[in-house]
Amino acid sequence: MKQIAPDYYEKFKCIAGDCKHNCCIGWEIDIDEFTLDYYNSVEGEMGERFKKYISREGDAPHFCLSDNERCPFLNEKNLCDIISALGEDALCDICADHPRFRNYFSDREEIGLGLCCESAGQLILGNKEKTNLVCIYDDGEKESLTTEEELVLKLREALFSIVQNREKTVDERIKDAFEFFSIKPKERKITEWAEIFLSMERLDEKWTELLLKMKNAPELTDALTFENEFETVFEQLLWYFIYRQFSLSAEDGRLKERIIFALESCLFIMKICAFHKKSYGSISLDDIVEYSRLYSSEMEYSSENVGKYLKVTAVETHKV
Ligand code: SF4
Repeated sequence: MKQIAPDYYEKFKCIAGDCKHNCCIGWEIDIDEFTLDYYNSVEGEMGERFKKYISREGDAPHFCLSDNERCPFLNEKNLCDIISALGEDALCDICADHPRFRNYFSDREEIGLGLCCESAGQLILGNKEKTNLVCIYDDGEKESLTTEEELVLKLREALFSIVQNREKTVDERIKDAFEFFSIKPKERKITEWAEIFLSMERLDEKWTELLLKMKNAPELTDALTFENEFETVFEQLLWYFIYRQFSLSAEDGRLKERIIFALESCLFIMKICAFHKKSYGSISLDDIVEYSRLYSSEMEYSSENVGKYLKVTAVETHKV
């Protein structure tokens, strides 16, 4: 078994109290069995709080969010009371692992950092070097993968070369990636894009407001005028979606749908950035990180939305 991760992975640090969009706000966190047993054994004030703020109803035990959607253990300084009182080892699996994601192959685990976290977003999109994969754990045995998995990894290698070809613009690289799969990219107006995402499940009001603004906007057809530094930013974005989303086709065999989802995720964030630049006259790396965070939280963390995109948007519009 091998564990693979992007080369920036080990540099990640949670910025905790300085985080504007704390992951302890707005997400209902399930608690794994092992940690729940531990929480049940804690005595004193923390034990009382665990009794009070863990719900055993529904599919899985979880922390009950407060009225303003905050985790009941997130204090006014936006720090975690569980860590302060009991140490980091006391976190449940989901809290300890976030914002990491994992894709599993038969003899390999691929790990990455999710763009839903602003600190991860800064690390990923601010990286000026071409991203590489590194092995962070190796049991020393020869890797044994299925034929389908080997095919997906081979195609992904080719895609990585296409998206990291710095002799071309990111737009050209996206076209090349579509062509590599013999897919004719679908041209959409910004209003059509907005309608697609408005038809999906939405969590954050900011996302809905943005989509409505785009839907009601006058035609915006010109692309964002990239400065060199943003070419690299969007290259990283593209690489991220291919690594996270295309790789899942090893599991479900939906190669074309998943490459469409990966490429169009990047394309749509580029459209949002173009829209922002047109509206406000300029755009910064922080803005791009924030739009990527918003998109990732709304889409990548909703299996319903990803499923709908793969089934409806990718299939119907591209005749996959
Ligand atoms: S979103 Fe990221 S930086 Fe913010 S609290 Fe969560 S893990 Fe830390």
